[in-house]
Amino acid sequence: MYQDDIYKLTPNQWEWFAQDVLFHLGYTVQIGPSEGVDDGLDMIVELGGTKYLVSCKHNFKTRKNVGVRAESDIRDRMEQHSCGGFIAFYSTSATTGLKNKLLSLKNKDYELVEIYLDNILDIIPTMRGFILQKHFSRPQELHHQLLQETEYKPLICMKEDCEKDIISQGNIPWSMTGFYHEDNKIHLIYGCKHCVSDYANYPYWAEISQIRYIEQMLNWRSVVDNIKTKNIELSEEFYEHWAYLQEAILQIQIPQGWGRWI
Ligand SMILES: [Zn+2]
Repeated sequence: MYQDDIYKLTPNQWEWFAQDVLFHLGYTVQIGPSEGVDDGLDMIVELGGTKYLVSCKHNFKTRKNVGVRAESDIRDRMEQHSCGGFIAFYSTSATTGLKNKLLSLKNKDYELVEIYLDNILDIIPTMRGFILQKHFSRPQELHHQLLQETEYKPLICMKEDCEKDIISQGNIPWSMTGFYHEDNKIHLIYGCKHCVSDYANYPYWAEISQIRYIEQMLNWRSVVDNIKTKNIELSEEFYEHWAYLQEAILQIQIPQGWGRWI
């Protein structure tokens, strides 16, 4: 999960990360983290003619929500830097007290943007790999990044009675997909290598650790498409299994530009 990797960043790294996220969201950076003086100014960005004072808070040790006391004199700070807007960029969330305070500023016609952990977890998968690579040292190991743990769906090995989840972090290196012929039909199969490699009697197969790289997944998709055009009947469950496989791989997909499968 990105969450753990986020809490490995130092407060200073958090500000640099915030700069990249805001840039990704379309903001122009006027004063970046290194130039920030003090008095609660971390950054100044601009969007659509409005200048925003950015406050980055990273409670990476306590993981506590940011409260009113940590964010004092917001209005004074905005005015001091001639900003008409304020961006809260927090690696946690804000307390109800602070949220109410922000709301009251909004009601006074200030532009308020709240970016909290949940929002950041949604934004990260839309960012380019090479940007994320600046902040997270081993992005290939970031796992199941697209879904919250509660939504995670395992992919169970197709060999009867083997109930292993072949896309769990520990099992990925030992898992594969391929095809087999039976009754003049071609079947798509996936599972542990030792469970299914004997059945996969067709010359094309792929490792799960390989097709989790998007470039490799695109290759594998064209293999599946070409099998379809070869005038061989597909089994009734072919597309159902292909759908399960694609859905599962999506959960562990490594975005473009995050290195290649070797
Ligand atoms: Zn198995």
